[in-house]
Amino acid sequence: MLNLVLFGPPGAGKGTQSAKLIEQYGLIHLSTGDLLRAEISAGTTLGLEAKKLMDQGILVPDAVVIGMIDNKLNENKAAAGFIFDGFPRTVAQAAALDNLLAQHDVSIQQMIALEVEEEELTQRLLSRGKTSGRPDDQNEDLIRKRVQEYTEKTAPVADFYAQQGKFTGINGVGEIEDIYAQIVSIVEKN
Ligand code: ADP
Repeated sequence: MLNLVLFGPPGAGKGTQSAKLIEQYGLIHLSTGDLLRAEISAGTTLGLEAKKLMDQGILVPDAVVIGMIDNKLNENKAAAGFIFDGFPRTVAQAAALDNLLAQHDVSIQQMIALEVEEEELTQRLLSRGKTSGRPDDQNEDLIRKRVQEYTEKTAPVADFYAQQGKFTGINGVGEIEDIYAQIVSIVEKN
């Protein structure tokens, strides 16, 4: 099984690169942002609670996203592997993911981080907001709040994987194909 964490701040290009990896390696894409937006569209209680936080750029509680990932791992036991996108976003989520994967006798091979600085992220997200329909992409203050949440709560997750010798950072600014080629070379080394 090939299990990757694609890491980086909002707007770093995780979704774009995930799509390419899925096509090449037949992996299942687990994006907690997408799973939460599906709950919102379905009008579930979980979705309604999560929306209040997401509309403020705040992370939803660890237990909520860990539960969603647990369900997906159990639904896809025969998968070739997973790409985790937007998860884990806190050190507690990372520790929980290690435990969940251990229950299936698998583990994360590598965290690949896309590094992009804040001004570029803000511009990308504002421009995505014009077409994505995502309310959290349409307001500059909200985007800055998301980047701040990332810096405070999510950036430390990189150290968690670095301590396991599983972290590689790459420059997330440049041609999509060039960035993808770097990701593939990291994957192929594992
Ligand atoms: P982005 O494009 O900013 O990376 P996502 O689509 O991954 O955002 O997530 C959108 C919002 O959903 C986040 O700002 C956060 O409120 C919530 N969210 C997504 N994943 C998680 C997670 N793993 N833990 C907590 N909150 C999450």
